[in-house]
Amino acid sequence: MLTHPNEFDVVDLDPYGAPSVFLDSAVQSVADGGILMCTATDMAVLCAANGEVCYSKYGSYPLRGKYCHEMALRILLASIESHANRYKRYIVPVLSVQMDFYVRVFVRIYTSASDVKNTPLKLSYVYQCIGCDSFHLQTVGRTVSKDKSVRCLPGFGPAVPQECSDCGKKFNMGGPIWSAPIHDQEWVAAMLANVKSMKERYPAYERISAVLTTVSEELPDIPLFLSLHNLCATLKCTSPSAVIFRSAVINAGYRISGTHVNPLGLKTDAPMNVIWDIMRCWVRNHPVKAQPSDQSGSVILAKEPVLQANFARAVASLSQAQAKKVARFLPNPERNWGPKLRAGRQITSKHVSLLGPKALNAMSNHEIGEGSNHENGDGSNHENGDGSNHEDAEEPAAKRKKTEESDS
Ligand SMILES: [Zn+2]
Repeated sequence: MLTHPNEFDVVDLDPYGAPSVFLDSAVQSVADGGILMCTATDMAVLCAANGEVCYSKYGSYPLRGKYCHEMALRILLASIESHANRYKRYIVPVLSVQMDFYVRVFVRIYTSASDVKNTPLKLSYVYQCIGCDSFHLQTVGRTVSKDKSVRCLPGFGPAVPQECSDCGKKFNMGGPIWSAPIHDQEWVAAMLANVKSMKERYPAYERISAVLTTVSEELPDIPLFLSLHNLCATLKCTSPSAVIFRSAVINAGYRISGTHVNPLGLKTDAPMNVIWDIMRCWVRNHPVKAQPSDQSGSVILAKEPVLQANFARAVASLSQAQAKKVARFLPNPERNWGPKLRAGRQITSKHVSLLGPKALNAMSNHEIGEGSNHENGDGSNHENGDGSNHEDAEEPAAKRKKTEESDS
């Protein structure tokens, strides 16, 4: 790629594991306005199981939150942007998806020394409370306009006080992540219409249309998302249905949508104090057992809600796809659905205990037939992406030898 700068209209990076070492040459080889597609399967690294490894590879610190898979997407985008910036180039994401056990982004790459200066406006640090998982974003840069000229300055900070204003605990800081839109909604709508008009040409039609449908309904300007179950776990209360919660947010005057990353995730522009007020009102009608007073949930519930939540069902509380009963998330295609083994990898007792002998037999037969492919199926699984991905790529030679010896 380094010998062909600015040459290719489309470059597809799909390595087994981290693409980070290829990004520098890839961003140089794409023609102006061309597309770079990039897959990362090292979800354990990107989703905070090894935060320091993520920092060394991608230059961002991941956080453990229910939104970690979307954060993985945004860390990858921030990393591509930083590589592009070194060559006076910048990215415009057209589609970014987290599926199965990997993230995949499609970005256009343009060259412009003046537009590169806007990068700090598209990046944010994330503060996440260690007690109640509330999160707050702080952009790296801001703009000031003076005499018709616009200048970039460092962002105002800190975005949060020393202690969480909801529960009193401290914050972890992660990022910087890409906090600008991760999809080009016009492009997604056109692609969805295109796919629908040629259904029979796409063997994975149902999967593609389900993902594009959920993507098209996401709020484009809201990074990361809340998990209703996570909020309820903090308060130790029963969960309102998604429709009731969405209605309360809409009735309070804010926007809310789902996310393609997690069927239970909710994107909203409502600030955290409004979210907690809605939950306080919910708990008032659905009381919880008394908890120790130092727990985050008890501290939050001890405050009186400022806002009186209205749980009356709002018209927009169902997404359009839900209302039309269009599939948004598909079930997994088989039992024990997980990442396949790396090509040419020797099967060890570790794999047998993790995957079961039946799955391995099926896998080895498949390899003989078609060669192995680590992402050759359809289906969706949103919970076990992180942690379940073995980092075979980084295994030292000595360790590998040891496993082989003990096996023979
Ligand atoms: Zn908190």
